[in-house]
Amino acid sequence: MSNIPTTQIAAVVPSQGAALQIKRDYPVKQPSELAPGECLVKLFCTGVCHTDLHASSDDWPLHAKIPLVGGHEGVGEVVAIGKNTADCPVKIGDRVGIKWLAYSCLNCEQCRNGREQNCPKAKISGFTVDGTFAQYTVSYVHHVTPIPTNLESNAAASILCAGLTVHRALKYSHAKIGDWVALPGAGGGLGHLAIQYAVAMGHRVVAIDTGSEKKKLCMELGAEKWIDFTEAKDIVQAVREACGGEGAHCAVVTSASESGYTQAIDYLRPGGTLMAVGLPGKAKLEASIFFTVFKSINIIGSYVGNRQDAIEALGIASSGRVVVRYDCKGLSKLKEVYDALKEGKIAGRIVLEMPK
Ligand code: NAD
Ligand code: ZN
Repeated sequence: MSNIPTTQIAAVVPSQGAALQIKRDYPVKQPSELAPGECLVKLFCTGVCHTDLHASSDDWPLHAKIPLVGGHEGVGEVVAIGKNTADCPVKIGDRVGIKWLAYSCLNCEQCRNGREQNCPKAKISGFTVDGTFAQYTVSYVHHVTPIPTNLESNAAASILCAGLTVHRALKYSHAKIGDWVALPGAGGGLGHLAIQYAVAMGHRVVAIDTGSEKKKLCMELGAEKWIDFTEAKDIVQAVREACGGEGAHCAVVTSASESGYTQAIDYLRPGGTLMAVGLPGKAKLEASIFFTVFKSINIIGSYVGNRQDAIEALGIASSGRVVVRYDCKGLSKLKEVYDALKEGKIAGRIVLEMPK
């Protein structure tokens, strides 16, 4: 007899774009039902990413499964592993993280090139398979991420999406030590971690967001310059001035709306790089072809990260150089968290603790 319950508490989106419901009788996949390679994880906590709000509101060109249990910044304990799992890298009792990418085949061209997130067989936590807004989730032994022992679960959770995403974006941005990095969205979940990874990499940060709380957070975390996008009359001029007159070497855009992308090409200096990270579903990137060519601008889409990015991002956090700023709430508060995210009211991140 296993001690795994057959039902659980979960936050469920019953149909595309419908209101969230807290269910007490959502099924738990039983250990005997796990396929080889699958594991059952009992969750302690999960971060809430703006992506979960996009998935729940169905405002992207791609649609989530339904019914949907969202969530992809989970930390928990492996409580069961599918029978006949070969070369299993985890054991029962291990503390692991659940990230956006739940599964990839590890054998196709994309996986072999380190772009596991672009694997045609990819499975996505909280989008194509159920995620972490529940007491239990099914994941895959080769993709769960070991959590460094000195990091508390609540502190590790948001590294698994927000942290690893901005770490990878900065890694591929061509920015060098001493370069200016502009961060539209700096006060949000991804942005406040981007400030810290950028500072750890030796970059100089211009934080762009709005409100006194986000300004305080950004400056505390090491931004040198602050621009309030609702107050600045001319963002291009403001960024150029902040970066000594020539503009930023790189922009990592993590705002969830089109407006964060506006003018980014214009405030980059020649040779600069725009890392597109924020995911407004229907927006187009406005870029002057002439100036993109004339200024030798790079535009790069950066989509979460692979297993190595996750391990690196957690390693940097475990060294103390990057610290998630979060408030804790219970799973039942998810709807309120979505409302606050929509209104841009969350500085840093919210982490939800699971009912025991
Ligand atoms: P968030 O809501 O916590 O942060 C977004 C921030 O952008 C807010 O602080 C908001 O005030 C700010 N903002 C809005 N308009 C702005 C503007 N014009 N200029 C500057 N700042 C502006 O959201 P989050 O969880 O950090 O996620 C941000 C986006 O990144 C979402 O669209 C999410 O889906 C996406 N995302 C992408 C990836 C990826 O792999 N590329 C991974 C995770 C999340
Ligand atoms: Zn996310």
